[in-house]
Amino acid sequence: MGHDASAGSGSGGMVGTIVGARPVHDRGGNVKQMRKKHSAISIVNYWATWEKREKKSPPWGDWDWNEPACMAGGWWDQSCDMKSTNAQRWASSGLEKCHVTPCYLTQDDDISNMVLMCHGCHSDQPDSLDARVTYDYMRQRSIWDCLGAQGERAQMLQKLLEA
Ligand SMILES: [Zn+2]
Repeated sequence: MGHDASAGSGSGGMVGTIVGARPVHDRGGNVKQMRKKHSAISIVNYWATWEKREKKSPPWGDWDWNEPACMAGGWWDQSCDMKSTNAQRWASSGLEKCHVTPCYLTQDDDISNMVLMCHGCHSDQPDSLDARVTYDYMRQRSIWDCLGAQGERAQMLQKLLEA
């Protein structure tokens, strides 16, 4: 008895500030570029932590967070190997930040909905509300699919293998 029911009610002085990515709209009113919020290395760190916690490979298959490469087909840009830190290497990898389920439909811009893919794999990515569809797609990609059929890297590798 006598307990002050008001004790503990918010008097911390913090005005509730909601921090989040505000969708950017193009002239047609479509949401674009909601992905600025996450850096490449923050996405890598999220999945590296996920892998350690879950003790298994991420949903798209094997990868190496120390080796910047398309998480789908595995293409990499050797020029990024020149950088000294892993963050710089991922940032200069030429990989695109991709939503697993399309952000314009789900508004899900959480880092758990982000992966890094090359331009070709990102372009061909299915627009599915089911993340498993995207992960299945990523697992099926090979380096030959990376950067698209006309990808310079794929062509170069093809020549090397044919030589
Ligand atoms: Zn790729």
